[in-house]
Amino acid sequence: MSAPNANPTVIIGAGVAGLVAAIELQAAGRAVLVLDAASAVGGRVRTTVQDGLVIDHGFQVLFTAYPTLRRYLDFDRLALRKFLPAARIAREGQVSLIGDALADPGLLLDTIFARAIGVGDKLRLLALRRFAQQLSLDDCFGARFAGISTREFLRARGFGTPVIDGFFAPFYGGILLDRTLATSASILLFTFKMLADGDTVVPAGGIGALTQQMAARLTPGTVRTSCAVQALVVSDGRVSGVRLSDDTVLEADQVVLATDAPAAAVLAASVGLTLPEPVGARGCTTLYYTARTTPIPGKALWLNANSDAVISHAVTLTDVAPEYATDGRTLIAATAVGAPADFDDATLDAAARRELARMGNVREDQSALERVALWRVPFSQFEQAPGWREHRPSIACGIPGLWRASETLHSSSLEGAARGGEMAAKAMLHAS
Ligand SMILES: Cc1cc2nc3c(=O)[nH]c(=O)nc-3n(C[C@H](O)[C@H](O)[C@H](O)COP(=O)(O)OP(=O)(O)OC[C@H]3O[C@@H](n4cnc5c(N)ncnc54)[C@H](O)[C@@H]3O)c2cc1C
Repeated sequence: MSAPNANPTVIIGAGVAGLVAAIELQAAGRAVLVLDAASAVGGRVRTTVQDGLVIDHGFQVLFTAYPTLRRYLDFDRLALRKFLPAARIAREGQVSLIGDALADPGLLLDTIFARAIGVGDKLRLLALRRFAQQLSLDDCFGARFAGISTREFLRARGFGTPVIDGFFAPFYGGILLDRTLATSASILLFTFKMLADGDTVVPAGGIGALTQQMAARLTPGTVRTSCAVQALVVSDGRVSGVRLSDDTVLEADQVVLATDAPAAAVLAASVGLTLPEPVGARGCTTLYYTARTTPIPGKALWLNANSDAVISHAVTLTDVAPEYATDGRTLIAATAVGAPADFDDATLDAAARRELARMGNVREDQSALERVALWRVPFSQFEQAPGWREHRPSIACGIPGLWRASETLHSSSLEGAARGGEMAAKAMLHAS
């Protein structure tokens, strides 16, 4: 246990990584204070309820197979709502449902007869599923996959351009926010394994329920929101506190950087440190609509495989989780990734209306979409190009008293953030 008047461990950032680190340190008896610049906990995992609609801050899902994250959550109390383990591929007026028939045998016939993917590629997909499932998570991140791109890996497994561009690009556009498939093959295998090992879900209360539940495990008063840290404070060669944006200095026994990579780089620079943080960002913009009737029904994610796609993927959230809207309304999420995510609101809105109608083969005015929210998240994930893991930051940052807890220690995902938080807490407890 820490001494009664000892300074706390200050954790900067109340996202998944910071919350997990706080849970572990508090459980070990440490005094912990978590500071976050935002007005609420959760970081990139937040939800706003507006006018009876559950609006996630960007469309996001949870894979129940995430092994570390799940230990910090009570799935039963989250009332998880499942997606169909399948995708509807919309291309040039045709829609094909391709699913994981091993997870849901009801998908077998649709998948066999789906015209978007040839028989050979369907068998290769099945083999890839088996291959990924047999790997351990550490194997997925091993050298033989970490150094090549998803596109190169798929080519080496015999997939041709039509299935790579027509299925994998929009599918992994949805998961990796990268339709170019330049992301390391490790991430493809990691996510393929997670998809095969469990369900894809959202909590009935929105994705932010995950971080709300984590924060509720902390002693009341542990987290201070609307509290931005502008700099670290060093005394006698060790980090001894943090300077807040109002110039107040809070003394700390230890400081943990649990922010996103760009913010960590800025804070480290405040004491002359350069951390090997990943630099590139993958952004996305999600537009939310209510509708009289949805043009894209069902519990599967819709993938826009048209070559001129602005919207990469979309889903009728209330078909998956009716709790996302009161009064039986229909709520649709449509997400743009890559360059289109930066288009202005009017361009994105016009494209979403046009493309949702085209995907669902309905006239544009039939569904009468009403836009209810638009969320831009320019830094949704960091770029995970081949080889990036060789340059990950370390937990101990090079100045005594300063630690890194972050998704950048593992992978840009909910699981990566949970691992980052847990690894940092364990290293800190081991060091003392
Ligand atoms: C739209 C979207 C979709 C996604 N989809 C998925 C998905 O389907 N599956 C998946 O696994 N992952 C997905 N991700 C990624 C996942 O959400 C992140 O990997 C994870 O939440 C990162 O958590 P973190 O704790 O490392 O960082 P963050 O959540 O970014 O938390 C960092 C916190 O630090 C705070 N902060 C920053 N600077 C300061 C400062 N100076 N002072 C005080 N506080 C500061 C921030 O306010 C923030 O709350 C998605 C992300 C987004 C945005």
